[in-house]
Amino acid sequence: MSFDTTFLTLFPEAFPGMLDVSIIGRARDQGIWTCETVDIREFGEGKHRQVDDTPAGGGAGMVMRADIMAAAIESVERKNRPLIYMSPRGATLNQAKVRQLASGPGLIVLCGRFEGLDQRVIEAYDIEEVSIGDFILAGGEVAAQTMTEACVRLLPGVAGNEESLEQESFETGLLEHPHYTKPRNWKNRPTPDVLLSGDHKKIEEWRQVQSLALTKARRPDLYASFKLNAATNARPKD
Ligand code: SAH
Repeated sequence: MSFDTTFLTLFPEAFPGMLDVSIIGRARDQGIWTCETVDIREFGEGKHRQVDDTPAGGGAGMVMRADIMAAAIESVERKNRPLIYMSPRGATLNQAKVRQLASGPGLIVLCGRFEGLDQRVIEAYDIEEVSIGDFILAGGEVAAQTMTEACVRLLPGVAGNEESLEQESFETGLLEHPHYTKPRNWKNRPTPDVLLSGDHKKIEEWRQVQSLALTKARRPDLYASFKLNAATNARPKD
């Protein structure tokens, strides 16, 4: 069974886009996931197939019409997939959410343009809003590809080394330790001795220390919840 994705967009030519390269592209060739687009324009009205209109209450920009979006949504076979609207107002995507989505049957993703969707369609179809961060893009397509790439690389058989996935930033609750490779000495910057020692236990300890220090310095929020979890897990159960 494949992970089936459907993107509702005014720019179907943007897909698969970045999702066609490297391991994600290969995974699609292998049938691990599928990529379908629905051209919202086809559901537009009149000679110009208009999909948007001026905002009720006035103001700048245009809003994507509820009735047009509804017709586009209803043309898609749901197949138990979550219906997601990429939106800066949604909950910010994180690795836990990516894991949850990747363990499901696939995604149906609405890519907004202009000022976004009429609120009524979001409510009527109980659409989940997902943001990729606190900034504004010109449209939802790049955001949709970002979320999909994060999901697909977790699917079995996609990443070469499944073990490396578990060690990554956020999976352990911490940022990952720094990496080094050859040459051993570069511009008077030697590779840390411990990494060349062959002592796997010491290397693990060093990486853990680095990981903790980096997280504490850069992401005090992650560090605090990591410490809290560690304390909770260590407490004897009653
Ligand atoms: N007026 C809206 C922004 C519209 S940007 C607001 O202020 O909230 C146009 C479209 O780009 C949105 O409908 C959404 O689909 C997409 N988009 C923009 N920024 C995004 C983000 N950070 N995450 C996910 N999608 C985003």
